Amino acid sequence: MKIVPATTENIAAAARAIRQGGLVGIPTETVYGIAADATNAEAVRNVYEAKGRPDDNPLIVHIAHLDQLDQVAAHVPPEALRLAERFWPGPLTLVLPKKPELPDEVTGGLDTVAVRVPDHLVALALIRQAERPLAAPSANRFMRLSPTRAEDISGELAAAMDMILDGGQCRIGVESTVVDASSEALRILRPGGVSRADVQAALGAPLAEVAGPMKRLSPGMYQRHYAPAAQLVLVEELGPSDIGLTFGEPRNERQFRMPRNPAAYASVLYTYLNRLDKENPKAICVETPPDTPEWETVLDRLRKASA
Ligand code: AMP
Ligand code: MG
Repeated sequence: MKIVPATTENIAAAARAIRQGGLVGIPTETVYGIAADATNAEAVRNVYEAKGRPDDNPLIVHIAHLDQLDQVAAHVPPEALRLAERFWPGPLTLVLPKKPELPDEVTGGLDTVAVRVPDHLVALALIRQAERPLAAPSANRFMRLSPTRAEDISGELAAAMDMILDGGQCRIGVESTVVDASSEALRILRPGGVSRADVQAALGAPLAEVAGPMKRLSPGMYQRHYAPAAQLVLVEELGPSDIGLTFGEPRNERQFRMPRNPAAYASVLYTYLNRLDKENPKAICVETPPDTPEWETVLDRLRKASA
């Protein structure tokens, strides 16, 4: 088994693997990632290949501290700096003008780069010891559910990795919020672990609306995404024999009761979906959460998973 506990020795071994161009499964506070040296074009190509991800779908670069931003970004506008100071380490990704030295493979050929500081001691220790920024997308096959536990990383993906550092269950449980800060009008490209309200409060100004098709702004955004292998169906209420997620009292062993708090809901969502999906059901039914701003991230993932 490639899953190893995230001990000091194993983190050191993982750092050596990264420096030699290998791939490592890493825990973060959002979801598990598949990490490569962001400065090594070949290692980055191997990430795309392992995930079966189109090579125009850019990766998020992980750094250990704000001070390392100048290794990946050509320039940091003041609003971006304010967000970084407020939310890093944490589940907020900033899209910034890219440093020309960074391989084009990382950014899918774009002249911007997505970057964040993860709020996880294991990820931070690995970045520091590897002495490289890490390109680390979620450790799932393209379009599939992201893993929130080391054992939920699929065998196919694990086969491409030198090792997986086990850091336990991910605290946030959904991906980071992606904010485009590369031009004057800041906007959210993907809702995530930091809420729109918190981003706006930190900026002291409302965010711009995304005009036109998202695909051009953020090539990785697809209608269908974050999906289990089973069909995900949004319903009002689960029936007694349905398999899925409910807000009420579960009526069989394959129904999980979901928290009514959006952050608590997000933290267990992929874990439960991964667990149900392993039983190869035809459909997973999910009771639709309220359509209110606090539920934006959860609703985004559920809608994409059911598209
Ligand atoms: P993941 O690494 O799987 O969490 O997904 C990263 C997502 O961030 C991509 O699929 C894109 O949608 C978005 N992203 C990454 N880099 C950029 C960029 N330079 N410009 C716009 N969106 C980006
Ligand atoms: Mg992903």
